Amino acid sequence: MSWDCIRGQDAARNTFVAAVAAGRLAHSYLLVGPDGVGKRLFAHELAKAFLCEKPPATLTACDRCPACAQVKVGTHPDLLFLRTPTDKHELPVDDMRAFCAQVSLKPTRGPRKIGIVEDADDFNGSSANSFLKTLEEPPPGALLLLIATTTDRQLPTILSRCQIVRFAPLSPSDLKAVLATQGIDDPAKRDRLARLGSGSVSRTLALDDDSIWEVRQRLVEGLTSLRPQFQALTEVWSKFHEDAGKETRPQRLRASLVLQFLVEAVQHALKFSLGATVSDLDAAEAAQLKSFAGRVGTDGLMELLDKFVEADFHVERRVQLILVVESVLAKFPREK
Ligand SMILES: [Zn+2]
Repeated sequence: MSWDCIRGQDAARNTFVAAVAAGRLAHSYLLVGPDGVGKRLFAHELAKAFLCEKPPATLTACDRCPACAQVKVGTHPDLLFLRTPTDKHELPVDDMRAFCAQVSLKPTRGPRKIGIVEDADDFNGSSANSFLKTLEEPPPGALLLLIATTTDRQLPTILSRCQIVRFAPLSPSDLKAVLATQGIDDPAKRDRLARLGSGSVSRTLALDDDSIWEVRQRLVEGLTSLRPQFQALTEVWSKFHEDAGKETRPQRLRASLVLQFLVEAVQHALKFSLGATVSDLDAAEAAQLKSFAGRVGTDGLMELLDKFVEADFHVERRVQLILVVESVLAKFPREK
């Protein structure tokens, strides 16, 4: 791992390089951006660079010294992580207290102690409050890195104590370069995945899975059908979430991907209803969507699009997935 593996985030890196060069490194940073754009990798690489014993250049790890080796395998005593437990939706206050206690201890190997809060989206009122004192008066040498998808979810008291560093979605060319390193050798496949991946590596890699395309087909058929089989569709979609395992992040990613497919299908239907053409669509699906567009009409399609986009917002806001699934399927137009 080195900075070369982190694509498209030079601006974020320059923020830190400039701060160090000017001697104005803050104590706390909130790294904000969509899922899957490299925030965690970035925080990890930054920590390695700070803890490296022989950095060859500013904020560059040598990747050879004992400290670099410890960071890589996760055993460096001055690098601490706080994550939401896999069976929870929030950061428990007890975990937060233990983390703050560890941050407050003197560094053991060098001048710095680095604490990374990987799931800052998941603060609840108590864990956020118990973090404030550490954020306000961090121990000497401490650097806190908080990782979040949006500033909207943070309390003003947290925001006001952090410098905000924004992470942008990756460009298609950066995304394709990452996919090439992940074993996706077919350039046509990389093009197709990168087009659908919204600039997120995790999202794009999740699309490289046959089961999602089957679910997509079932749901688009259901959407355009005269009599959608709601029960069967609920089962297909819910099972697809559950197959992602117990953790909520991959489940939500799957829910959001399926919604994106539905949004695209409605957008295509809208184009047909406005007399435009849609390229890149197989003939059978184009025919389905054309007849669907004729049946539902432009206004109906606009309304549907609104509902689906709103549902994606609920997925983001951590509404229970089964409720999102049921509310979306209930909007599928059926013949009266
Ligand atoms: Zn090193």
